[in-house]
This record gives sequence, structure tokens and C-alpha cells, in this order.
Amino acid sequence: MKQRIIFLAMLCAWCLCISAQVKVVAHRGYWKAEGSAQNSLASLSKADSIGCFGSEFDVWLTGDDNLVVDHDRTFKGVNMEESTLKEIRSITLNNGETLPTLDEYLQRGKDLNTRLVLEMKPLGDLNREDLAVTKIIQALLKYGVLERTDIISFSLNACIEFRKALPDTKIYYLDGDLAPAKIKALGFAGIDYSMAAMRQHPEWTEECHKLGLEVNVWTVDKEEDLRYFIDQGVDIITTNEPELLQRMLK
Ligand code: MG
Repeated sequence: MKQRIIFLAMLCAWCLCISAQVKVVAHRGYWKAEGSAQNSLASLSKADSIGCFGSEFDVWLTGDDNLVVDHDRTFKGVNMEESTLKEIRSITLNNGETLPTLDEYLQRGKDLNTRLVLEMKPLGDLNREDLAVTKIIQALLKYGVLERTDIISFSLNACIEFRKALPDTKIYYLDGDLAPAKIKALGFAGIDYSMAAMRQHPEWTEECHKLGLEVNVWTVDKEEDLRYFIDQGVDIITTNEPELLQRMLK
């Protein structure tokens, strides 16, 4: 009986240890909060206000070489890659904000505590991707937020270009098609893969950790899925339900 109690106590301590390590990233900011909207300035502030480790957002290069924060390639009938900044700025988000520029986003983020998890969207042309990488780096330096920023992208080209230019910044690849050993060889900080990819390759979490890589999984919203990945020992969970995940980790 005594041995059983000791075993259970050790198991609980182990579970708590794993839970405490999981970091919460709000997907497209905390957009489900009142007065918020996906990728809005409010969503960034609200992710910070509840103490998220990080707040994720998406960045496009516009047709006239400006950077804006938005998820969809075409949003409210406006194509991000083909339109001018002026055309894109005519878009009003669902909380009444004007669709933000990256400058506005970093201006808001620079005085907050939450990490900035910047996703650069893949573009139709690799030269334009390289231009976007250069301009994003310039913006991060301008606002003094480089050390608080992690970079993620589905574009392997963009990840490689960021890696070359920013040796100390954490870069995570999103597409789910590269095994941990390849990610290590590319010099990235880790993987940031979908739930589907991580369920297909549950062994990748341990493989990453053995290689000194971090594991981030997206976009995990249901309690049963959150529990699965907490128990698996991933490092970061990107979620539309940051408060639910925070409660589960307490
Ligand atoms: Mg994103």
C-alpha cells in the first residue's frame, strides 16, 4: 500500500512537471475575447492580458511591397498579394479595427510581455518571399522586438532565409513534411506541426527532444486533444482556446 502511494505521488509530480512545461500560444491572437477579432491589435493585447507565452499572427507582403497582418490570401474580397496597401486598408475587421499593418502590430506589441509568434505567409514568387523576409527583419529591428519574436512559416525558403539572416532567432517550420533530423540539419529551433501530422508521427516529439529541438503543435482546441498533447510532452501548444488550456495546466 505504501509503495502504491509513493508511486502515485511520483506519477502526479511527473504529470505536473510535464504540464508546467507546456507554453500557451494564442492562435491569431486571443480573438475569441470580447471586442477582439482574428489578427487584430486587440487580439494581441488580449493574449498578453491573460498571460499567454506567445501570440501568433500572420503576415503578407502586399502588391506594393508593404507588410500587413492577416490570415487569408483573399479576405473580404481583397487579395493580399495583388492589392495595394490602400486597398487592403479599406478592410474593416469584425471588431471595427482597420486591418493592421505590421508596423502597427509591432508598435502595439513592443510594450507587451507576450512573445510575438510571426508567421510569414508563402508568396507566389520566391524573390518576393526574400523581399518579405528582408522587410520583416527591418521592421523587427525598427521596433526593437527581435529578441521577443519567434518566426514560423510554411515556406521552407522563407525559413532558410530567416535562418541565414538571424542566427539567434528561433525559426519553426510549419508544413509537417520534414522529420526532426532534417529540421535539426537546417538549423531550425524545432517543428510547429499540425495535430494531424503529430498524431501520425507521435515518435517525433521524443525524437525532437533527443535532438534538442522544440515541439509546437497547432491548432489544438478540444479538451481531449489538448490533454493528448500535454501528456505527450510537447513544448508549445497553439490554440484558439488559450484560457481553457491555461485552466488545464493549473
Ligand atoms: Mg498562422
